[in-house]
Amino acid sequence: MMQTTAVVVGAGHAGLAMSRRLTERSIDHVVLERGEVANSWRTQRWPSLRLLTPNWQTRLPGHDYAGDDPGGFMPVADVVTTLTRYARLVDAPVRTATTVRTVRAVSQGFEIQANDDLLRARAVVVASGACNLPAIPGVADAVPPSVTTITPLTYRDPGQLPDGGVLVVGASATGIQLADQIHRSGRPVTLSVGEHVRLPRTYRGRDIFWWLESTGLLAERYDEIDDLTRARHLPSPQLTGTCGATITDLNALTALGIRIVGRLGRITDGVAQFSGSLANACALADLKMNRFLNRADEWATASGLDDQLPPSHRFAPTCVDPRSPLELDLRSGGITTVLWATGFRPDHSWLDIPVRDRTGHLRHDGGVVADAPGLYVLGMPVLRTRASTYIHGAGTDSEALADHLNSFLSSRR
Ligand SMILES: Cc1cc2nc3c(=O)[nH]c(=O)nc-3n(C[C@H](O)[C@H](O)[C@H](O)COP(=O)(O)OP(=O)(O)OC[C@H]3O[C@@H](n4cnc5c(N)ncnc54)[C@H](O)[C@@H]3O)c2cc1C
Repeated sequence: MMQTTAVVVGAGHAGLAMSRRLTERSIDHVVLERGEVANSWRTQRWPSLRLLTPNWQTRLPGHDYAGDDPGGFMPVADVVTTLTRYARLVDAPVRTATTVRTVRAVSQGFEIQANDDLLRARAVVVASGACNLPAIPGVADAVPPSVTTITPLTYRDPGQLPDGGVLVVGASATGIQLADQIHRSGRPVTLSVGEHVRLPRTYRGRDIFWWLESTGLLAERYDEIDDLTRARHLPSPQLTGTCGATITDLNALTALGIRIVGRLGRITDGVAQFSGSLANACALADLKMNRFLNRADEWATASGLDDQLPPSHRFAPTCVDPRSPLELDLRSGGITTVLWATGFRPDHSWLDIPVRDRTGHLRHDGGVVADAPGLYVLGMPVLRTRASTYIHGAGTDSEALADHLNSFLSSRR
């Protein structure tokens, strides 16, 4: 049985950032990865995906973007290259093709079964990803068998879909990007829209992530957020990794010819029923966007930047077609595919320790799993700050958790 001080599960950006922090603290560890480095980006993302965060923001401990396009958006292949180089840069002790099958608490630490090997460690860092399984609503069971269903984890390109109309359920970053792409392939697309986060790609000449970072919003700490559960389950913003003036809001999608309908509520006898509150959902998203733009303007004024930035302005409200259908018969042949862009969830099924709540989510306090001392989790949305949802957030999160882990080890010595 192999003995080590810490085991990190997963060699995505979060696991690699943690590895770097552990090395900095001379903590002996191994990173166990079921595939290769950046496995999720290699196997679970569609090839045309680009990050929606700009290149300058793709930074990790000891690594800043040094390319010639800081304002651009990385294609998924470049994310893989960046993380593979980062693993080499920080000399991460990654064991690839090593699937963690169980982690159990034992005296003095944890026992980890990985492939057919047993390991012992005093600490375990779960960095196995927040988006490894699709979050599919129960209503999916009622889709008629004649209709193909697919999730973003297995979607690759429109050519994979049967001819005919596509119902995309969910209008966050993934839903709007795939609705746009599938529509451009010539298939009629209907987009089902529930609660969503509308943000412009650029505002007053700057990328929206510049504003989110500059105003301090992304740095808001988890223990200072009023409704943390809500913040952790907030849908991703309606953005795509495209430069220039391209706006991918619902108005733009409607102008392209994509049909917008309300939230999918039920499917009864093959008939999909959509909520009649589409206009309300859109009005709320517009209101929240404007609230953030007000905050951005106030921050710019207080920072003395008004003279250096183009004037403030507001975007057209979302226009909702009052004739938007409330029902769609999925048996009529008009819809041949339903794409569930309804979010993702982590897979912690291999954790054989009672640390999950009723809904299956890992109970933790800013990444520290209080019910199992020595167990940590990294890479979850709003783990320690709002930036935790994004790649660059792993920088401060891994630092704080590595400090905690180090103190934990010292206290047990
Ligand atoms: C569609 C999509 C678009 C996104 N776009 C952006 C963006 O533009 N900008 C941004 O900053 N963030 C983006 N994110 C969010 C975030 O960067 C990802 O969720 C990110 O992949 C999380 O990194 P991670 O290292 O925590 O997990 P992952 O990248 O998922 O890495 C986890 C690793 O753990 C491995 N693993 C899992 N289970 C086991 C096991 N049992 N044993 C061994 N290994 C295991 C996996 O193979 C994987 O390599 C996006 C996410 C998605 C889903």
